[in-house]
Amino acid sequence: MRVPFVDLHAQYPSIRQDVQQAIDGVLERGDFILGEDVARFEAEFAAYCETSYGVGTDTGTSALELILRALDIGPGDEVITAANTFIATALAISYTGAQPVLVDVDPLTYTLSVPGVAEAITPRTKAVVPVHLYGHPAAMSPILELAQRHGLAVVEDACQAHGARYCGWRVGGLGRAAAFSFYPAKNLGAFGDGGMIVTNDPVLAERVKILRNYGQRRKYEHVQFGYNRRLDTLQAAILRTKLPHLDAWNASRRRIADRYRQRLSGQPLELPVVADIAEPVFHLFVIRTSHRDGLRAFLEDRGIATGLHYPIPLHLQEAYRPLGLRQGQFPTTERYAGEILSLPMYPQLEDRAVDYVAEAISQYFANGLTS
Ligand SMILES: *Cc1c(COP(=O)(O)O)cnc(C)c1O
Repeated sequence: MRVPFVDLHAQYPSIRQDVQQAIDGVLERGDFILGEDVARFEAEFAAYCETSYGVGTDTGTSALELILRALDIGPGDEVITAANTFIATALAISYTGAQPVLVDVDPLTYTLSVPGVAEAITPRTKAVVPVHLYGHPAAMSPILELAQRHGLAVVEDACQAHGARYCGWRVGGLGRAAAFSFYPAKNLGAFGDGGMIVTNDPVLAERVKILRNYGQRRKYEHVQFGYNRRLDTLQAAILRTKLPHLDAWNASRRRIADRYRQRLSGQPLELPVVADIAEPVFHLFVIRTSHRDGLRAFLEDRGIATGLHYPIPLHLQEAYRPLGLRQGQFPTTERYAGEILSLPMYPQLEDRAVDYVAEAISQYFANGLTS
């Protein structure tokens, strides 16, 4: 049996007709740039996130960057985020000219460490960017409380967490604004790149709308230095057909996570921990073992693909050498980088594939104990 890490084609048969109709609609109307489908998808996705405004962007990275720019964050400012995240979180901060200030992650949820944030705040700090890593919401209540006390903006990186809930609320509306990515493998993925900013702040929404479209308020009236970072209309049309399926796809991810959990209980490894007030959406299902590399090779031999998210913490990346951070600075992030293993996870993953993966993992540890 072969088990891919993700299978993007698996969802296509169930939505083929709707997608083709949606694409055809755009081709017929010919409104390729900021067309009808962009405005509709912005409203529909904002409503899904229980927020008032949605502004589509070309990528999730742009969404984060434009929020920070709209908050007037730039050179001389510091923005706090996690050392264990995809590099785009830090890049978006760097693009503005601000300094990313990295902190370690919480050992249970792998999201931004709250004591770490408290220690990292300086007079230059302007914002905190919690990342809902692997689809598990960051500890938003204590982060928001800290931020309020110090006058900082909280910008959610929700690129892995479409539909997740914290204290019953959808992620995306918890801070000042949030960035989502529609990269194909995300929980809601386009057939190409895409992103979205959601917020309840009408002024911020207007500012990012201007920033993503050449700094233009009305046609050829440029009120500020802007960019071309629009969500493509074809991608918006495709995403509109997929959004109604998102809750069912997320439920399926949770069911698969439960099955992994059942089948792997008793094995000498760490399973994902879910905080009491969190409802995660399992963008990834990440286990942890000190025998990671051996296990990974063993699974690969049995046709099971796995992933590492992420093998090199941000502060140890060559690109971020200028930050001057050292090995040993973020012990949890560094230790986990050598122990984490992402198992196959996508909504259409079949029970028998989950069982096959779990069985292979059990075999690995059974062999290890006898040899
Ligand atoms: C995917 C991702 C991004 C960037 O999204 P793109 O659409 O690829 O630019 C940012 N942060 C996190 C945590 C992500 O997973």
